[in-house]
Amino acid sequence: MFRQSRLWHSQNKSVALVPTMGALHEGHLSLIRLAKKKGDKIVVSIFVNPTQFGPNEDYNSYPRTLNEDFKKCSELGVDAVFLPSVSAMYPDNSSTYVNEEILSQHLCGARRKGHFRGVCTIVLKLFNICAPDIAVFGQKDAQQSLIISQMVRDLNIPVKIIIAPIKREKDGLAMSSRNKYLLPEERRQATAIYNGLQKIKKWQNDNLSVAQVRRKLIRFIQREKDIRIDYVSIVNINTLSEVSRPKKGDKLLIAVAVFFNKARLIDNIVIKW
Ligand code: AMP
Repeated sequence: MFRQSRLWHSQNKSVALVPTMGALHEGHLSLIRLAKKKGDKIVVSIFVNPTQFGPNEDYNSYPRTLNEDFKKCSELGVDAVFLPSVSAMYPDNSSTYVNEEILSQHLCGARRKGHFRGVCTIVLKLFNICAPDIAVFGQKDAQQSLIISQMVRDLNIPVKIIIAPIKREKDGLAMSSRNKYLLPEERRQATAIYNGLQKIKKWQNDNLSVAQVRRKLIRFIQREKDIRIDYVSIVNINTLSEVSRPKKGDKLLIAVAVFFNKARLIDNIVIKW
């Protein structure tokens, strides 16, 4: 992969990387389409990264649909699919990891210990191997995108990070490989996440405080009986720390994580207070 990327560079072609864990859906494909606008050669990596899953998480059951993924990549004219094995990425004696220490304290980082250490480590390794000029990530994983951007600044990594907007199903549910886990009734209830996020504008117009908006959102989502809320947080878009009295015009991230029986889903919107 590295030799191929170096060859492209020697031909004055820029390389754009889209890192994924596979089970590709329209969300991923929108990242690939954006990458094609920004770079000459497109690399999609598919790697279900064991170090970003906790011991009780879904590493083993995570959907793997390689044949369909290849087909989608080839239809979009992807130049290379990078598909490393776990043992190639993590030889038995590997003992170096990358830790972002501030942004990772919040939101998913607080609930999924070690998750972003796994993410940062694998993304830096993918950058070293694929040597991209550009890498595209999704706003769906808002915290991940922010942490990767921070890592790139902190470690002087010569990659331009581009963040693509969230792709949603017709009824608003954010696309995710994990939506496959949902039973039909759960899939119906899952629309409450985005429907709740959409209500925030109205609650803002009613002059509710941040705490009141947050409580309303929690109550709205909890009306669905199979949803268990992991967190509902209203945070500063740059620091990810909780806000209580934002100034008018401040940009806030409203981030939600919920569990159904098997699936953990996340979603977010950015608002101006
Ligand atoms: P994953 O395969 O879930 O690790 O996701 C790979 C990349 O696709 C990440 O940068 C995600 O943020 C992005 N992504 C996943 N779902 C969506 C979506 N619905 N809209 C936009 N980007 C997404």
